Amino acid sequence: VPRISSSGRLKAILTLLEERYGKREAFKPRPPVERALITILLKDGKERSAENAMRRIRRGFVDLNEMRVADPSELDTALGRSYPPGVGQLVCDALTAIFNYSQSMDLEALLELDVTKAETVLRRMGRMPSRVAGELLLAELHYGKLPATHGVLRVAKRVKLVRPGSMDSQVRSIRRLVSAKMTTRTYHAMEMLAERVCTPKDYDCRACSISEHCPTGQETLKKLAIQEEKERKAREAEEERLRVTRDRDRRQRAKKRAATARLKKQIQARSKKLKISTVKPKTKRRSKAKAAVPKTGTKMRQAPSTEVKPDRTKRKTRRRKTTSTPKTATPKTTTPKAATSKKTRASKAKPTRKKAASSRKK
Ligand code: SF4
Repeated sequence: VPRISSSGRLKAILTLLEERYGKREAFKPRPPVERALITILLKDGKERSAENAMRRIRRGFVDLNEMRVADPSELDTALGRSYPPGVGQLVCDALTAIFNYSQSMDLEALLELDVTKAETVLRRMGRMPSRVAGELLLAELHYGKLPATHGVLRVAKRVKLVRPGSMDSQVRSIRRLVSAKMTTRTYHAMEMLAERVCTPKDYDCRACSISEHCPTGQETLKKLAIQEEKERKAREAEEERLRVTRDRDRRQRAKKRAATARLKKQIQARSKKLKISTVKPKTKRRSKAKAAVPKTGTKMRQAPSTEVKPDRTKRKTRRRKTTSTPKTATPKTTTPKAATSKKTRASKAKPTRKKAASSRKK
C-alpha cells in the first residue's frame, strides 16, 4: 500500500471507484419513493439508465405494493443481466421499510421532519438500504455533509481513511476529508463499493478495484495466497502419495508374475526329468442347453388358442367320466377276480366240514 496521506488516498480511491461505478450527477426533482427506487437502480451514476430499468420492472406489476410483496428473483429477472443478483431484494427491502413506516407507499411525512429527526427515522428503518437513506438525506432534505451510513464507515475503516476509535470521532474524521462539493460523488462511490463488493461478511477483495490502496485488502489477499499455497502443496503431496502407491503395487505385481514364471519353468524341467506329461488331458465340455429364461420386464401376452395344449391327464379323466355310468344305476356285478377274493376270504374265515373231520381223525 503506497504511503500517502488520507486525503491523497481518498482521491486515488475515488478516481478508481468512479471508473467502475460512474460519477453521480446532480439529483433531478422527483417523489421520494421514486428517488429511493432510482437510487437502488443506479448503475453508472446516471439517472436515465435507472429510469429505464424502473420502467421495465414496473411493467410486470400493478403497483408498488405488489412489487413489495413480489419474489425478489422476479425483479432480478425483469432487470436483466446488466444488474447483479440481489438488486431485486434491495428493491423489496426499501419498499417494505417505506410501507412499515407510513403504512402506505408514501414518504411525504418524512420530508416534513427536521433533518436530524429524519436521519434518526431513516436509521431506525431496519430494512432500508443504507445507500437509499443517505441519498434521501442528500437529495430531499439538503443534508449538506457526508451521511455517516454503515457502508461509508465500513469502507473508511477498512481502507484506513479513519483511525480506530469511537464512531463519532470516525464520522468527524471522514467528514473532514470530504469537501461539501465532493460529498455526493464520494458518497455514491463508497456506498456502491460497500453494497456490491466490500460487504460486512465475505467481502471479495480480489474483485475490488481499490485493493492496491487498501491495507485490509492487502492483508486479506496475502492470507488467501498463503492458504492457496498450502492447499496446492497438500494437493501435490496427495498426488505424489498416490503415485508412489501405484508404483509400488505395479512392482509387486511384476515380482509375483516373475516368481510364477520361474516356478512354472522349474515344474516343466522336473516333469521332463521324471517323464511326466504336464499337458492336461482334454475333457469334453458338456454343452449345456441354455434353458429359456423368460425375459424380465417383458409384457405378458395372452397365447392364442392354437398354441395352448390341453393337459393330457385331465383329458383322460374327463373321458373316463363320460364313459362310466352312474353308480346307482348299474347292478352290482362281481368280476372273477372279486369272486376269487371272496372265496379265499370265506376259506380263511371258516374251515370246511371235511377238513374238520379229518383233523378230528388225526
Ligand atoms: S480491498 Fe477488500 S477490504 Fe479493501 S475495500 Fe476492497 S473489498 Fe473492502
